[in-house]
Amino acid sequence: MELKKNRYRIQGIDVIKLAEEYHTPLYVYDGEKIASQLNNLQAAFSGVDLRIKYAAKALSNLSVLRLMKKLGAGLDTVSIQELHLGIMAGFKPDEILFTPNSVGFEEVKAAIEIGAIINIDNISILEHFGNKYQDRIPICLRINPHIQAGGNHKISTGHVDSKFGISVLQLRHLLRVIKTYNIKVTGLHMHTGSDILDPGVFLQAANILFESAREFPHLQFLDFGSGFKVPYREGDINVDMVELGEAMTSAFNEFCKEYGRKLELWFEPGKYLVSEAGYLLVRANVIKTTPATVFVGVDSGMNHLIRPMMYDAYHEIINLSNLSATKRVYTIVGYICETDTLGWDRKLDEVREGDILAIRNAGAYGYSMASNYNSRLRPAEVLIHGGKAHLIRKRETLDDLLRNQVEAEI
Ligand SMILES: *Cc1c(COP(=O)(O)O)cnc(C)c1O
Repeated sequence: MELKKNRYRIQGIDVIKLAEEYHTPLYVYDGEKIASQLNNLQAAFSGVDLRIKYAAKALSNLSVLRLMKKLGAGLDTVSIQELHLGIMAGFKPDEILFTPNSVGFEEVKAAIEIGAIINIDNISILEHFGNKYQDRIPICLRINPHIQAGGNHKISTGHVDSKFGISVLQLRHLLRVIKTYNIKVTGLHMHTGSDILDPGVFLQAANILFESAREFPHLQFLDFGSGFKVPYREGDINVDMVELGEAMTSAFNEFCKEYGRKLELWFEPGKYLVSEAGYLLVRANVIKTTPATVFVGVDSGMNHLIRPMMYDAYHEIINLSNLSATKRVYTIVGYICETDTLGWDRKLDEVREGDILAIRNAGAYGYSMASNYNSRLRPAEVLIHGGKAHLIRKRETLDDLLRNQVEAEI
């Protein structure tokens, strides 16, 4: 989104016009930003055989998945439903990694039948797998390297108390199971959390994965997961992709030399590809001045964007309707009957009732975590691609809330 001729535009399209045409609340995604993020990543890792598996859970609209496919990415899925969506979006099964946690073996079997690449994160499931498939289907293993990484405890997944992955400390046991069932392991995987800033953390985890990889002679790829931090506010530092790329490339190539074969290097970014591309457009319904605060109450809330309340996430908010007005301090809140603050003590161009605000970084874990809490309807979604706005999901109606309800005789 850029300011041009005193209007915010995405690929030349006036953002306020989108709010007028499709109404608010509205999710808007900039396809060009998604493409440029993907390019940055590819450029930083041009020295290795890089494969990007977009983490579908960040934003799983079919049209966004299709765009990813068109841009040359694969997919990382965490549920059988995401896997189905990936197939519907045009991905071949062998372009999709299936990385579930705490699912029953039935779901793993269903994913195998579709033909996805299976990532197993539990020795119990591995034994089920070994009994049924032996060496017939190659698999990937999710290793937990036990390092502390990520923005906060709610989004760290690689530490010792985490439910994810097979502990690196269980390597001996793991190898016994693999040998006994004659299982063919072609990939090792780790994903240590989200919002990781320090390239050193990736390298530290990578070294642990290299260490384990020596024990597996049939590898084709190593998957380093994701967790790249993106900027949320002005002046925020983000992970330095160029620096990370250089450091990882040399460490990886060195490992491959020692391993005796060139492997593929995989990443599965969600946030990095789509966070900054997304905006939640909302309307200021009311301004309320209390003895302590000036609130702006908007026509959306934690039902549509839960990150501020769930993760204390900071999302920049701008008033699109009153550019270069006098700045005032507001707390922006939603319309949910529960405390659902979207931004505390924000300096915004003076907000008037009816103004359109944009909440930034809403591409990742925005719509995909939205709910119908308070029996509110979920917003429409628009993808801007090739300089054109495409409606990619209609706003819900009351019928959608009623669809699966069965009226009992009461
Ligand atoms: C959520 C998740 C990702 C994506 O994480 P981001 O922080 O959005 O990049 C990647 N891999 C796995 C296994 C995940 O669960």
